[in-house]
Amino acid sequence: MADSVRLVFLGGVGEIGRNCACIEVEGRILILDCGLMFPDLEMPGIDLVLPDFTYLRDNADRVEACVLTHGHEDHVGGLSFLLRDLEVPIYGSPLSLGLARNRIEEAGMLGRTKLHPVKDGERRQIGPFDVEFIPVTHSVPHGFATAFHTPQGVILHSGDFKIDLTPVDGRAMDLARIGAIASDEGIRLLLSDSTNAEESGHTLSERSVGRVVADLFAAYPDKRVIVTCFASHIHRIQQIADAAVAHGRTIATLGRSMAKNIGLARSMGLLHIADSALVDIEKVGNLDAHRVCVITTGSQGEPMSALALMAAGENKWLTVGAGDVVILSSHAIPGNEASVGKVIDGLYRLGAEVIHSGLARVHVSGHAMREELKTLLSIARPQAFIPVHGEFRHLTHHARLAAEMGVPESRILLAEDGDVIELTDSSIDFAGEVPAGYLYVDGIVGDVGRGVLRDRRVLAEEGVVVVVVTVDAKSGEVLTGPEIITRGWVYAPEAEALLGEARAAVLAGLEEATDRGGRDYETLKRHTRAALGRFVHERTRRRPMIVPVIMEV
Ligand SMILES: [Zn+2]
Ligand SMILES: [Zn+2]
Repeated sequence: MADSVRLVFLGGVGEIGRNCACIEVEGRILILDCGLMFPDLEMPGIDLVLPDFTYLRDNADRVEACVLTHGHEDHVGGLSFLLRDLEVPIYGSPLSLGLARNRIEEAGMLGRTKLHPVKDGERRQIGPFDVEFIPVTHSVPHGFATAFHTPQGVILHSGDFKIDLTPVDGRAMDLARIGAIASDEGIRLLLSDSTNAEESGHTLSERSVGRVVADLFAAYPDKRVIVTCFASHIHRIQQIADAAVAHGRTIATLGRSMAKNIGLARSMGLLHIADSALVDIEKVGNLDAHRVCVITTGSQGEPMSALALMAAGENKWLTVGAGDVVILSSHAIPGNEASVGKVIDGLYRLGAEVIHSGLARVHVSGHAMREELKTLLSIARPQAFIPVHGEFRHLTHHARLAAEMGVPESRILLAEDGDVIELTDSSIDFAGEVPAGYLYVDGIVGDVGRGVLRDRRVLAEEGVVVVVVTVDAKSGEVLTGPEIITRGWVYAPEAEALLGEARAAVLAGLEEATDRGGRDYETLKRHTRAALGRFVHERTRRRPMIVPVIMEV
């Protein structure tokens, strides 16, 4: 009997973001990706959300290494936080490591890891793990699918992928290698990207965007062209730059991550822009509009990004107007639609022309659609299947697709965050759970608990009412107040009568407490909160946060 192998999902199954899984062989743990998730509107003031690292902290002595599939934030953005808890070496393509390194370095955690670059197709022994790195195409270059050759057979993880048959850099997904593993050893288990499991058809090649962008440059020969896309989308940047140069324009970049990633990709030979084609953003003002192309960050409408500032007329370097055409070569991530819409509105208001993915094919997805998912399933022919990288609905559709493709339903597992899966000689099945809640981060460090988040939600939706009252410490008699201060409940200057009634309600509540003999601080506080809360709800049907401040003298 061969040793069993375990999989532990710490994030990314049940949501898009904070991808993190563990593979366990001979009691050792290999972490596959460590990403973050961007907060939604239900999380006011939260900067990012991480996987719960409790399991890794509790088993720190068993952790062998971390392997990266690619350099997107939802796969590498959690590393700088993980490294606070444990020292761990990281393996990935040079570009993935380069992108991950930025944040790790900023957090001062570089000393707690060693970065090991791996090549396309390389097979590495990492402790007891035999890992093969198989090239895939995606919206960042040099992504991998990873094949783990384990005592329980081959586990193939697709990573984020699409099947782009005409990739911009000529580096195709190595489907042949996957087919070879399938026919030689067989694939025991496939874990595959579910992001676009609801989308029928096939994604368009990244190259198609290049043609559309080039056509737009031709259509607006007299305008300044400003293009935004993800700063890690090196192939997109290459195509924009090629179109700009072909139309006699020089390129300026805007946004810190754009400048950083372009520098990194050029130094690695992954992005080809001649020095002579680049100009400092400070000098753009001196050039004719039709000789300039600006590539900027801010494709998600992030409030302080270069593009959002442009749309608000507050960008330090660029004043947008009727002489500009702005191309959003991107698609809003769910939750960001409103911010992106606001930016587009702002740009139109300033007189600019705006081209977005709703108007022209200036963006294509980096994630496989149904026909591509079927292609991978048919080449890998896995004995068992677990859909990953998706919300529950995406996982469900992907699971059904696998069933249609002939994977027996008894061997399709719909796993979620926190699930542990065990592979033995005879079965693949659920084998317990580990903590996998959201770890909320506000600012650089610091875990914000659910309590804080609940408070913020109440404050955002219902406002706050603070009541300040001074009482005699011995008798409980009210000496001054109650004074009522509110934000977001009623507009105080116009609600004096209501506030007067609220003060009376508080006094009545305090009287009730002292009549029953309650003099202590906690009792007075509780009665104040209850009386005011009741009054506020009865009169206005609202439930703002009530904050009693009792001062004893
Ligand atoms: Zn991803
Ligand atoms: Zn990705």
